[in-house]
Amino acid sequence: MNNAFFEIPIPVNEPVKNYKNGSQEKKELLDTLNHMKENTIDIPMIIDGKEITTNNKIKILAPHDHNLHIGNFFEGDKSHVKSAINAALKAKKKWAAMSWQSRASIFLKAAELLKGPYRSKINASTMLGQSKNVFQAEIDAACEFIDFLNFNVSYMEEIYKNQPESSEGMWNRLDYRPLEGFVFAISPFNFTSIAGNLCASPALMGNTVIWKPAYPQIYSAKVIMDVFKEAGIPDGVINIIYVDGPDAGDIIFKHKEFAGLHFTGSTGVFKHLWKEIGENIDNYNSYPRVVGETGGKDFIVAHKSANSKEVSTAIIRGCFEFQGQKCSAPSRIYLPKSLWPNIKKELIEEIKTIKIGKPDDFSNFMNAVIDERAFNKIVSYINDGKKDKDLELLIGGDYDRSKGYFINPTVFVTSNPKNKLMVEEVFGPVTCIYIYEDNEFDNTLKLVDETSPYALTGAIFASEQVAIDKAMNALEYSAGNFYINDKPTGAVVGQQPFGGGRASGTNDKAGSYLNLLRWVSPRTIKEVYNTPKNYRYPFLKN
Ligand code: NAD
Repeated sequence: MNNAFFEIPIPVNEPVKNYKNGSQEKKELLDTLNHMKENTIDIPMIIDGKEITTNNKIKILAPHDHNLHIGNFFEGDKSHVKSAINAALKAKKKWAAMSWQSRASIFLKAAELLKGPYRSKINASTMLGQSKNVFQAEIDAACEFIDFLNFNVSYMEEIYKNQPESSEGMWNRLDYRPLEGFVFAISPFNFTSIAGNLCASPALMGNTVIWKPAYPQIYSAKVIMDVFKEAGIPDGVINIIYVDGPDAGDIIFKHKEFAGLHFTGSTGVFKHLWKEIGENIDNYNSYPRVVGETGGKDFIVAHKSANSKEVSTAIIRGCFEFQGQKCSAPSRIYLPKSLWPNIKKELIEEIKTIKIGKPDDFSNFMNAVIDERAFNKIVSYINDGKKDKDLELLIGGDYDRSKGYFINPTVFVTSNPKNKLMVEEVFGPVTCIYIYEDNEFDNTLKLVDETSPYALTGAIFASEQVAIDKAMNALEYSAGNFYINDKPTGAVVGQQPFGGGRASGTNDKAGSYLNLLRWVSPRTIKEVYNTPKNYRYPFLKN
C-alpha cells in the first residue's frame, strides 16, 4: 500500500568516463568489443514479451568493415505490426493502472543497469553497429540515455505535482491520464539514447508503445530491449518490430486507436507521416499527438571580435565528430574576412592530423558513415561541389569504400551564400564556409536567418557583448538550441533541452517536462462539498 508522498531521487548528470589507457573501463570495453566481434548474434523482434523470428534474416555488418558480420535481424511484415498493436492494447490497462512510483522505479532501475552491468555492452554495440568512437558512444549510449531515464522520472513527478487551485467548498484536481490507445515510436540511426528515449518517455507516462528503430541501429536496440526486460517493464508495454517504414505506417496510421507518433528522423519522412495521419484523421478515437524532431542545417557565425582558435576548434569538433551525422552538427559557417587567414591556417593544419578508421582503435577521431545509401548521398554532394564554380575545395574531398564507408573531413569555401551546400542537410563530414566583409555583420545575420528552412541549432562566437546581443535578436527563430561561444552540438539532458523549430520539428524538447506533457491527456476533476439544491441565484430575489 502506498500511503506516503514518495520523492524521486534528485537526478544528476551521469559523469562521462574517459577510457584512458590502463583504466578499468577501457579494459572492460575492449573485452566486450572483442566478445561481440567474435560472436555473431541473431536478433528477434519482441512482441508481447515474446521473441519473434521470421524467414527473412538480414545481415548486420559494421559500417567500418564490410567483413565484420556482427549480427542478423529478422525482418517482419504487416502481420507483425498487427500483433504488436494487439499486444500494446492488451498491456495498456494494467500498465496505466500501475502506480507511478512503480513505473518510476522500473525506469530508475534501467538507468542503474546502464550505469553498471550494461555500460560496456551499450557502448560497444553502438561503436560496432553505428561506427562511433568510444567518446561519442559514451556521451550518447551510456550518459545521455541514463540522463534521459533519470531526469524524465523526475519531470514526471513534477508534472503530477502540478495541481489547480481550489475555492472554498470544493477540491479541484488534475489527473494526468496516459493517451487513449497506443503510441508509435520511430527512431533514427544516429543516437542510441534518442532511440531509447523515443519509446521510454511515452511508456513512462503510462502508455504502451510500438517501436520501429532504423535498421542500422537494431544492433544497439537489442541491448536497450535487454535492459528494459531486466528492469522489469512488463510484456507488451514496449514492442519492437523490424518492419519497413511504409508497411508499418500503412497499418498503424489507419488504426482507430493510434494515439501518438514519437518520431525523430529526417524532415521529408516526418512531413510524409504528418500528411498520412492527416488523411486518416476521421478514423481516430482522438486527435493523435504528433511529435517530431527532424533535420537541421546548423550554423556557426563568428564576429570579428571572436577568438580564431576557439572558432576553428568548434568547426572541427562540431562538423566532424561522428562524421557529421548529428542533427546538431554545423555545416554552414559564416566568418569575417579579418579572421579568415588565421582560421584557414588552423583548419588546414588541424584537419590534416585527424585519423579516420575503425572505432576500436582508440586513436581514431572519426569513423565510417552509416551505410551505402548515406555514403553515396554524401559523395554526390562532394563530387557536385568539386565541379561547382561557386565553390573552392579547401581540404578533404576524398573517400574510400573498399573496406568500410570512409569519407575524409571536407571543407568547401563558397562565394555564393545560397549555394546548396549552405542550404541543404548533407548529414556527413562536409561543411561549407562563407566569408563576409567585417562591416557586413548585420546583413550576415539576416542571411543566416533566411538561408535555410531549418532551425535546429546555431552558434555565435564573439567577445563583444553588443555583437552577441545582435545575434541573439536577429536569430531568435533560427535555432531551437542557441550557443554563445561554444559549438552547437553536445546538448546535455537537464541542461540544454533539445529541439528545433521551423522545418526542424515540433520543438517539444526531448528530455524535458515539455516532451512528457505530450504523452498525457489531463482530466480535470471538480468535487464539490456543498452541492446547490435550488436553481435560484441571489440576483433573482429583486
Ligand atoms: P530517416 O528519416 O531516414 O529515418 C528515420 C526513421 O523513419 C527510420 O526508423 C526509418 O526507417 C523510418 N521511416 C522512413 N520512412 C518511413 C515511412 N514512410 N513510414 C514510417 N517510418 C519511416 O532518418 P535517419 O537517416 O535514420 O536519421 C537521420 C535524420 O534524423 C537526419 O535528418 C537528422 O537531422 C535527423 N535527426 C534529428 C534529430 C533531432 O533531434 N532533431 C536527432 C537525430 C536525428
